[in-house]
Amino acid sequence: MKTSIATVCLAGTLEEKVTAIAEAGFDGLEIFEPDLIADHRTPREAGEMIRAHGLTIDLLQPFRDLEGLDGEDRRRAFDRLERKFDLMGELGCDLMLICSAAHPRAKGGIDRMAADLAEAGERAANRGLRLGYEALAWGRHIHDHRDAWEVVRRAGHPATGLILDSFHTLGRGLDPDTIRSIPGDRIFFVQLADAPRIPMDLLYWSRHFRCMPGEGDLDVAAFMRAVGATGYGGPLSLEVFNDLFRGGRPLDVARDGHRSLIALMDDVRRVEPPARLNPTALPARAQIDGIAFVEFATGPDGAPDLQTMLRAMGFRPVGKHRTKRVTLWQQGAARLILNAEPSGFAHSAHAAHGVSVCDVGLRVPGAGAAIDRARALGAVPFTQARDAGQLDIPAIRGVGGGIMHLIDPDDGLDRVWQVEFGQTEAPPGDLRFDHLAETTTYDQMLSWGAAYAAIFDLDCTPMLDVSDPDGLIRSMALAAPDRAFRLTINGAETHRTLAGHFLADSFHSAVQHIAFATDDLPTLARHLAEQGFDPLPIPANYYDDMAARFGLDPATTAGLREANILFDRDEAGGTFLQLYSHPTPEGLFFEFVERRGGYDGYGAANAPFRIAALKRLLRPRGMPRG
Ligand code: MG
Ligand code: MG
Repeated sequence: MKTSIATVCLAGTLEEKVTAIAEAGFDGLEIFEPDLIADHRTPREAGEMIRAHGLTIDLLQPFRDLEGLDGEDRRRAFDRLERKFDLMGELGCDLMLICSAAHPRAKGGIDRMAADLAEAGERAANRGLRLGYEALAWGRHIHDHRDAWEVVRRAGHPATGLILDSFHTLGRGLDPDTIRSIPGDRIFFVQLADAPRIPMDLLYWSRHFRCMPGEGDLDVAAFMRAVGATGYGGPLSLEVFNDLFRGGRPLDVARDGHRSLIALMDDVRRVEPPARLNPTALPARAQIDGIAFVEFATGPDGAPDLQTMLRAMGFRPVGKHRTKRVTLWQQGAARLILNAEPSGFAHSAHAAHGVSVCDVGLRVPGAGAAIDRARALGAVPFTQARDAGQLDIPAIRGVGGGIMHLIDPDDGLDRVWQVEFGQTEAPPGDLRFDHLAETTTYDQMLSWGAAYAAIFDLDCTPMLDVSDPDGLIRSMALAAPDRAFRLTINGAETHRTLAGHFLADSFHSAVQHIAFATDDLPTLARHLAEQGFDPLPIPANYYDDMAARFGLDPATTAGLREANILFDRDEAGGTFLQLYSHPTPEGLFFEFVERRGGYDGYGAANAPFRIAALKRLLRPRGMPRG
């Protein structure tokens, strides 16, 4: 399988783009002509620079408005074509993309257009070049790959073939299975992009909201199954126009793109192996059975304030690491590790970010295969020196820089608590992990979400807007099919939002809150209050509004208000109770939840009030006013 990407996907100068594309592992690229025009090199020098990075130049794009023109318009279009053929010779690229004409004077008629493409093909062949014709979704006469194929078929020239683009096919709602009847050797090139389903003008949608396969809502896998069935054996190339990606780090975007192609083609292979594309075979997506632990970097003093907070939350130290300054705290099934080591990863995490989550342990049956899949998708394995007697638990650098350990219960690695911590004491309480909430920038949220969903078997909920008093936060949720693991990712666009403030303050994007589940939150809230837990105070206005919205009786409302518990109800009648802690000076906080009646959300309706309450507590530290 040959992977490629259009230079238009990335930010930077041509050389920065090329460097990122090569480093991310692509085999080739498509040159978006304006990137070449803007460069100071001659086309010949640019071609040499690209090949020196080990990349092939698979396509020059786009050539607009060739077919269906008359008279002077037609003469000039063909002159322009010859000029571009000169350029291709200099560059060292033999395929050009012709997109269906959008010119106001372009005439329809399949045979007229076919004749133009036959002539163009003949001129290309004379120079040893080829042309690929693509149906733009907003083309004047041709905006459907079936019509584009008919034009190419009637042109009947060996140097004129078809270019398919998943956005143009799926974005218009065309059935990708109609591709299956096209001969694979007549398809010269395949471009891939996904997009979130947003009803808007097609051109605007395409130019600004395309995303990597797997980051949007289009069925790119069904498109690729159909392409694979034709016997197509050429490059698979990403063509993603996205404002955020064009403002992001080119290497990050290129890596996301490469990972998305590998993951996509593994999915395709599992359902319907393509005839000639030979995708890399990866182990299946890993199941996550739950969160085994969350580890904090505390610094050498062991974070006494965090310990006080944990005690008030019912956690107790139940084990000490045999050789390290690492303590296991537990409440029910929820394990927290406090790492006060004077060196190593946790130490550097503390030096950089203060008291923060530096490691998350996931229970993953078949963890070894999961690590292999993660590595094949570009994740970096993490190793740290081990002492004798310490278990070798596989780990990867998690998305966002933290560490993620995968604990395989089948390998007996869950013995770690007895083996390394000498835990004998049974923990108090009945808590378990409900979800982790990570915070990052909006563009990284897409990237992280796609990375988690590529490695693990997770359901993704559509993105949600959450309002912060000082701006919008986008939020997405990923959950194991049986909900043994849940993760939310919040993407902040402005530093004035709470999420943005957390990012700016911690110079780091990571876990911002940890939510624990209980079967009886009101009782837990009473116990916690007795132990000195200080809940996040929720204003009386919230309870007046909530009682009115849900028709709660005064006694229930009073009970929730007394305990500072937030309430939500879904359309099916499932209910959700939430209780929050105060934030730590680093902006971390804890949440306790109770889910009843199959409630599957995260209390998004309550988020604005919770965020405002947290901000009231953070403002004295210099929080900018909205
Ligand atoms: Mg295209
Ligand atoms: Mg939450």
